[in-house]
Amino acid sequence: MIFDTHMHCDYSCDSHMKIAEAVAAAKQQNIGIVITEHWDDDYPTNPSAFMFDVDEYFERFAPYRSDKVLLGIEIGMQKQTTAADEALAGKYPFDYVLASMHCINGRDLYEERCYEGLAKVEAVREFLIDTLANLERHNNFDAFAHIDYMCRYMPYADKELILGEAPELFDQVFKLLIAKEKPLEINTRRLDDAGAMAALLAVYRRYAQLGGKYAVIGSDAHYKEHVGRRMREALGLADEAGLEPVYFRERKMRKMRS
Ligand SMILES: [Zn+2]
Ligand SMILES: [Zn+2]
Repeated sequence: MIFDTHMHCDYSCDSHMKIAEAVAAAKQQNIGIVITEHWDDDYPTNPSAFMFDVDEYFERFAPYRSDKVLLGIEIGMQKQTTAADEALAGKYPFDYVLASMHCINGRDLYEERCYEGLAKVEAVREFLIDTLANLERHNNFDAFAHIDYMCRYMPYADKELILGEAPELFDQVFKLLIAKEKPLEINTRRLDDAGAMAALLAVYRRYAQLGGKYAVIGSDAHYKEHVGRRMREALGLADEAGLEPVYFRERKMRKMRS
């Protein structure tokens, strides 16, 4: 079964979707879903905005949980929150822990001022260096989310990740993920753009070339209309890159096509 492994519902403050709506959208498309509410400890602009009551989350969403509706979390990694992040991931019976980079060195990648005074190449290199530092520290997660997250927001004419701009850093990130047996996520948000598709194919191909075998696929939906969005494009991208699409249940990797 195809799984959309990344979406936000009742417990993410920036989401406009209820879990019942996500479940209905998934049923209509005959796909499985994984809920991944935001957990960003010490968020720079608002330290606790992206945190929630995890006990209540499991209690309230238990009736929805099944083999097709899985409960996970998206943890925004920062160096100073490593110990707390690792403890949280280990404390609850998540199906899936998705690790993200939303901030670099205490600055929010979503905000334009994050890039102030930096050329694009400098911003990308700083992102990769901080990603490496976080991936070295964090172990209790299953996959690495949206490597192209900053491409949504960075204020440069060229918004794509170009391997040639930091070849050794991209390779270090991929090698570390592969050594830790963590799949890369194919985030479908930007797959409607041909330029993004081409740049991302190069990124995922390089990960595969270095020994990466698996990819998770997620829409990152915050609205019910976006559940399952562009799964076909993402599956095509995985095929072209030579990565097998997987999802996680009870923290164990499962193949989407068996
Ligand atoms: Zn995210
Ligand atoms: Zn997300």
